[in-house]
Amino acid sequence: MTDHRRIRVLWPDHLALARGKYLPAHLAHRGTRHSMSVFTLLYDRDMIPAPGTRMLEGFPDMECTIDTSAIRDGWEEGVGVVIGDLVEDGRPVPFSPRHALREAVAAWEALGYTPKIGIEFEAFVLQRGALDGEGDGGWEPYDCPGSYVYGTGPINDPMGIAESIHDVADAVGFRLESVNTEFDPAQFEFTLEYDDALAAADEAFLFRTMARDVAYEMGHLLTFLPRPLLDRGGNGMHVNLSLVDADGNNALLDPAAADGLSDLAHQCIAGQLHHLPAMGALCAPTVNSYKRLRPGQMSGYWANWGHDHRCATVRVNPERDGSTRLENRMPDATAPIHTVVAAVLTAARLGVEHGLDCPEPETGDALEDACTDQFVADSLGDALAALAADDVFVDAIGRGLVDQFSAIKEAELGKYLEAVGDEASARDEFTDWEKAFYLPYL
Ligand code: GLU
Ligand code: MG
Repeated sequence: MTDHRRIRVLWPDHLALARGKYLPAHLAHRGTRHSMSVFTLLYDRDMIPAPGTRMLEGFPDMECTIDTSAIRDGWEEGVGVVIGDLVEDGRPVPFSPRHALREAVAAWEALGYTPKIGIEFEAFVLQRGALDGEGDGGWEPYDCPGSYVYGTGPINDPMGIAESIHDVADAVGFRLESVNTEFDPAQFEFTLEYDDALAAADEAFLFRTMARDVAYEMGHLLTFLPRPLLDRGGNGMHVNLSLVDADGNNALLDPAAADGLSDLAHQCIAGQLHHLPAMGALCAPTVNSYKRLRPGQMSGYWANWGHDHRCATVRVNPERDGSTRLENRMPDATAPIHTVVAAVLTAARLGVEHGLDCPEPETGDALEDACTDQFVADSLGDALAALAADDVFVDAIGRGLVDQFSAIKEAELGKYLEAVGDEASARDEFTDWEKAFYLPYL
């Protein structure tokens, strides 16, 4: 690690933004402070007095504490980076996403398992359009006419945007497992190596911030919005889960079972499918998310699972070894990564604790028709209602977080409805409202 001129302290909020401050290196050990009412904010800076934000008590502070041993080299020259923890009166701020994830991990550890998580990102690169009689200078898709799925090299990435992100990731020690183009031109996939759940979420959170910074410095916008271009596919953030037992073995395996999966694995699948509608609001939390979560998008719409089946929401990879994992394909990166991982861990654990029965795996194409008629939700409004209705899930992940998150998301949805009418009507359109409200930030 090099000497740092200053430290960039970051922490995840509910909006998938990396909030924080720069601190001089010699003062970083003291941590910093922020108004707790930052949790009232929507993307347009409107404030919603959501539960727990203390907005109507004078916008008081919370602390942001730093483990100085966790400071790592950042991607700005000479600037260290670290994730802060939010604390109020000596106790973790209960609705902070990172705290929710710590609790979700602790609940698994109490059962004797260490959860491992691997995160895959998809994102579009956008470039500035011409500012002339035809163009308004706004963002348009990155021009890469020779691009094809599973592409590499300059034909697929003419300005070297993904390549630069890859170079910086290597330089600062983010462990990328692969980088390639996704299905559509200008769409890229970045897969991170798996790790303990908190470490994986932390690294994904920093990676996402870095990748947007690097692209922006090169004059491009890297957007993780789930469906910014309706004539192209969507951007998911797939979350792979495995569980290691006390002996260090992958607890999803059972060599004696016909499909090689343990009862624990089946119950983890059952929990994720049973609570899928409630997970939707936390893991796919924008109106744009429900333009991606449609049948036929390979994106985790149906409450189904399958063996090496990309149209199943929980996909089990074909290998039966340490890499055997449950890939939840529903989330997208407009959700706070820590909250998403907490939601996956919690739903899976509820499947185990309640002994839920696992349905049969998907055998159909599941593009239009699936083996179930249950699905995540067709709109953010429906997803928020499903979350509110699932007391078991809400109590398990933390009612404080859910109540606050839901309050700001209800307000966000209200603004969309006011501008656009209803969620069904502009399902095949990236509206001006989304362009203004979401695109700069996500
Ligand atoms: N782009 C698809 C999604 O929105 C996933 C494609 C894939 O990686 O299989 O989740
Ligand atoms: Mg992909």
